[in-house]
Amino acid sequence: MYRMGNKNMKRLVKGRLAALVFAASLLCTGTRYALAESATPAQSQGDKTVALLKKLIAFDTSNGPGDTRALAEYLKSQFEPLGAEVDIFVAPNGKAAHFIARLRGDGSKKPVLLAAHADVVPVEREKWTVEPFAGVEKDGFVYGRGAMDFKGGLAVFARAVMRLAEEKTPLARDVIFLAEADEEQGQYSTVWLAKNHWDKIDAEFALNEGGYVLQGRDGTVRQISVTTADKLSATFALRATGRSGHSSRPFPPGEMANDRLIAALAKLAAHDPAVKLVPATEAYFRALLPISSEQTASDIKQLLNAKDQSDLEAAGKKLVADNPKDGLLLHALLRDTVVITMIEAGIKPNVIPGDAKAIVNTRLLPGTTADQMIAEIKRAIGDPDIEVSLVTPLTQQEARDVYLKRTNAPPSPVDTALYAALDRNAKLIWKDAVLVPTLFEAGTDAMAWREHNVPVYGIYPYPLDDDILSRMHGNDERIGVEAIKQGTEWIYNTLREVAKK
Ligand SMILES: [Zn+2]
Repeated sequence: MYRMGNKNMKRLVKGRLAALVFAASLLCTGTRYALAESATPAQSQGDKTVALLKKLIAFDTSNGPGDTRALAEYLKSQFEPLGAEVDIFVAPNGKAAHFIARLRGDGSKKPVLLAAHADVVPVEREKWTVEPFAGVEKDGFVYGRGAMDFKGGLAVFARAVMRLAEEKTPLARDVIFLAEADEEQGQYSTVWLAKNHWDKIDAEFALNEGGYVLQGRDGTVRQISVTTADKLSATFALRATGRSGHSSRPFPPGEMANDRLIAALAKLAAHDPAVKLVPATEAYFRALLPISSEQTASDIKQLLNAKDQSDLEAAGKKLVADNPKDGLLLHALLRDTVVITMIEAGIKPNVIPGDAKAIVNTRLLPGTTADQMIAEIKRAIGDPDIEVSLVTPLTQQEARDVYLKRTNAPPSPVDTALYAALDRNAKLIWKDAVLVPTLFEAGTDAMAWREHNVPVYGIYPYPLDDDILSRMHGNDERIGVEAIKQGTEWIYNTLREVAKK
């Protein structure tokens, strides 16, 4: 599997929880969500989205194998009668199917794309209190695998596009809807799709999963984080070699692979990568300023105004120290992270092994290259005889080139018609919510577009809280019916504004 931006479930949920808590702790203004006057006609639209969501959950698209063919065929049956041009691209594994529907505009503007993954992570069925692939509605929630990640978004995006078609809205640009395969794992993701069918998904800008409509305990939405860049996941192997032999007659420590690897790993574990500000995080911290507590705002100013590296280090540490609950997220956003995740060595208790290996996962800020990270690891371990290489099915050079291209992809700019429409239409529903562009500390499949310089905005388009987030990829995943209805209105209004003549 070659997925540089692939997600690690536990890190993801943890990171996102931290993001939520961090955001909630920073907020001090805002008003409760109030139903807009247009709520009555929108209600039936919301019901349609909820019905579609239940239907989508009923397709078991657990990955692996991530078989999305039946779901793609169902979407085809829904979009085709509306006059949409549809394509289904089935990957060489015969299971991963990408569904694309296109509504034609007059061509005066470049297309807008709404992309959502149709595959889901598997379930621990015995730990669910409801059938995970049935779309059960209970107590104001729709339950099921993917309800929040990301069949809820799939339903919201699909209904927005279908409604434009149903209403025969004259369009200035093509509207493309994409139901993706292999986002959770597998090699036939959007990167594969982009490589083989770029013309089908090329657009001026796009929506995908990513940031959150953050709902506080009182139900209020005050902050909407929209991801405009993702960190890059890069994994390295460290390999030490040494003399092998009988464990009854050990060699001097410097001559045995395990000892050398352990010495190197001890240094790496103690290594704290430098604090860095990049355009995406600068924009994030700036956007947080007006909605942060006095103390946090002052810390952020200190960070943004740092004159040199030691200022930056001090400011970064202070911001983390003053927000202890959110320390992990802030720590991750402020630097490239380096973690030893696997250690493999030895074959028998009484054999001194000739080599020892460790796996180190790093998350690179935009702008940091794989070469720079290799150099940093080598500096930290201080042993030139330990080999450091990228873990990749490509050649080292090919992989370094891919990383170089991806890490240099700029964050999606926020001065686009799509971002402005998201902002304006969000405020019609959640009156005092502020849109905050964010760097995602993990990764998504948005890279397929960002590396072509197509702006992608990541959003889970419905209000959610820490309870909803804690169930993501977990048991009894669910999303609020009311949240889906609000999201339906937001995304439809946004899309219409961007695409209509
Ligand atoms: Zn997802």
